[in-house]
Amino acid sequence: MSKQIPFFNYKGLFAEHADEFSQTFNDVCARGAFIMQSDLDDFEKNLAKFLGCKYVIGVADGTAALVFALKASGVKAGDEVIVSSHTFVATAAAVKHVGADPVICDCLADSTMCPESAAKMITNKTSAIMPTQLNGRTADMDKLCEIAEKHNLAIVEDSCQALGAKFGGVNAGLFGMVGSYSFYPSKTLGCFGDGGAIATNDEDARNLILELRDHGRGHDGKVKQWGHNGRLDNLQAAILNVKLKYYPSMIERRRDIAARYWNNLGELTELTLPPGPLEAGKHYDIYQNFEIRATRRDELRTYLADAGIGTILQWSGWMMHHFEELKLRNDAPRCEDLSQQFMMLPMNHLLKDDEVDYICESIVRFYKGSK
Ligand SMILES: *Cc1c(COP(=O)(O)O)cnc(C)c1O
Repeated sequence: MSKQIPFFNYKGLFAEHADEFSQTFNDVCARGAFIMQSDLDDFEKNLAKFLGCKYVIGVADGTAALVFALKASGVKAGDEVIVSSHTFVATAAAVKHVGADPVICDCLADSTMCPESAAKMITNKTSAIMPTQLNGRTADMDKLCEIAEKHNLAIVEDSCQALGAKFGGVNAGLFGMVGSYSFYPSKTLGCFGDGGAIATNDEDARNLILELRDHGRGHDGKVKQWGHNGRLDNLQAAILNVKLKYYPSMIERRRDIAARYWNNLGELTELTLPPGPLEAGKHYDIYQNFEIRATRRDELRTYLADAGIGTILQWSGWMMHHFEELKLRNDAPRCEDLSQQFMMLPMNHLLKDDEVDYICESIVRFYKGSK
């Protein structure tokens, strides 16, 4: 029997708690509480509690969070910052927007930044390493922090895909001085538009970012530095406050789905799956994405599309070293290899078990049926 399983179910995000969201919307709008109001304060406090850090600052989106994090970490014009080729363009663009230059390094088989490759890119201009905590999994933070310490570099995590992921019990976003998160709708904690946040334990960084997000102004309205309009809307903060209550169970559901994919597909030699939830060692993964490597990938995607199953290629199939116009280093052999085979299966907390099973059966049929 055929099903329709879109890669992502945007309408479902509202439908799952429609009454509660409508009430929240009505309440916030009736109060006229649109910018920098109590719902934003509440959300910042609640998220700080969830993360176990001192401060959270809501900002306009994940990209603004990255720019502010780089500034607060002391990255300045003329510096070099090391980023993996397997990342969203926003990581490298944020580096450019503070006047520094992104330098591309390679990734590991699990898609996270390769510490050895990052170490090779260090020059006397390097001021930070910027690992992308990709697909809801952190990089090897023991190795990266050791390299950063040895060379006196900042760690500036792009943890936009990893809110709640941990390494050695520490939350993604708390390895450097300032971590950044995105609440783009399809992120694990998504709002109903754009949104982002910063996490930090450093009071000076917090105060700097409070100014940066609000035109450089202090509490009294006096301008202290050149700033941005980079605030998180109060309405989005109110929605996020509702969703944060359900977030731990949403993460559990994602981990269950990852385990189900493993049970059904783990034996297929044609596929390489991301590390499973129980064999992760120091890692606690939240499965923002379930990115696999597949033999005959493009044929498989067509076959699944015909079976009603949506899949996508992260970054539309391109990694940073593919964008000639950006004139970056284009040497990242493991990323290049991965980009020939990678694809993402549906992964979100709204998926039902029978849908996951149907996806898996279809994949097994593709490989077994065509031998
Ligand atoms: C989503 C994402 C961002 C950017 O977040 P926006 O909120 O869309 O600005 C940055 N980096 C990575 C790795 C992301 O996945």
